[in-house]
Amino acid sequence: MRLHLTACALVAAGWVAAQFQEVQVAVLHGKGVTSATLMGTRGAMAVLADGRQVGELAPNDGLRVALEDGRIVGRSLSATWTARERITLRAASGGGVRLRAVVPKLAERVYSGSIDIRRAGAELRFVNEVKLEEYVAGVVESEAGAQQAPEYYKLQAVGCRTYALANARKHAPEGFELCDQVHCQVYKGRATHGPITEAAQVTRGMVVVDAGIRLIHATFHSNCGGETLNAEDIWSRSEPYLQAITDSFCIAQPHATWTLSIPKAEWLGYMERKHGLRVADAAVRAEVLAHEPQCRGLYLNTTRPLVPLKQVREDWKLRSTYFTVRTAGDQVVLDGRGFGHGVGLCQEGAMEMARRGIPFMDILHHYYRDVHLVDLSTLEFFRDEGQ
Ligand SMILES: [Zn+2]
Ligand SMILES: [Zn+2]
Repeated sequence: MRLHLTACALVAAGWVAAQFQEVQVAVLHGKGVTSATLMGTRGAMAVLADGRQVGELAPNDGLRVALEDGRIVGRSLSATWTARERITLRAASGGGVRLRAVVPKLAERVYSGSIDIRRAGAELRFVNEVKLEEYVAGVVESEAGAQQAPEYYKLQAVGCRTYALANARKHAPEGFELCDQVHCQVYKGRATHGPITEAAQVTRGMVVVDAGIRLIHATFHSNCGGETLNAEDIWSRSEPYLQAITDSFCIAQPHATWTLSIPKAEWLGYMERKHGLRVADAAVRAEVLAHEPQCRGLYLNTTRPLVPLKQVREDWKLRSTYFTVRTAGDQVVLDGRGFGHGVGLCQEGAMEMARRGIPFMDILHHYYRDVHLVDLSTLEFFRDEGQ
């Protein structure tokens, strides 16, 4: 039995490693593209129709693709290729594929690896098959830009690799693994900023797991205002690694504070209507007009009916649930701290830690409790051993 388990574990580890050397990402996803032009950035590209090589696209030539009578048709200066299911363009070694949507007109993107042009109803679907580390670098550049410190890029790289691995089955019924939109992770093609590609390589294959060797949900928000929340404070589920912590790194950052004025009558009317508070009562009224939390709480008041801060944030579209309430004339003034739900990693705090040269592992441990970095090729092995 023991032998059998170990054999399974090794097979599983091999599967994961093989599976995640490359990822299939649907790009320009949901844009309704019906026509596009593709070109190589360097050298000739191999052209495949329904998986069979049918020719080459010369370095200075382009391929215009569209659907005609239910078939995918690709036209270059020198040839026309048609396919029932897909046309694939494979970039030369070290090169990329330039993809420009013509209908609708979209900005050009450059991708490493290959691009598969598929039929998706009356539209075209573009699937970029790309090495995992190149995808990770692309996501980090799309999400973090080029202004961050190297340790922040490493932190982001392990975060998006972990996410990619945990969510690679999200689009399985559609025939690819991840999309390039916020739904999965924003990916605008290959990274060009040196420190970002370096961060992806330095952290190659590393993912973040909890004490039970499960991939973590690397939850993050913009700025916690000085204190994060427990996962269960916001969502129904608690996670041992998503625990409230105090954070001094973000309190001088761009989204540390906010202010909002609301007419007093509107605020009181809302409390009465939505939460059933008897605001004619002086004590009830006093509580919702002067709220000064010493630390993050879950409710605006202390006597029933309780007013959940989460609901107040949603109804008034507040930046956070962390705020004081005071009055100024006929207005109620909310002085708030932070931006976002407040669970997990505080991005502006993490950026500041990275700027101070704090190693990314220490940043990770500051925001997530009892987590570890492991190589993804050993992940399934650990999981099976633990059963
Ligand atoms: Zn998606
Ligand atoms: Zn913070």
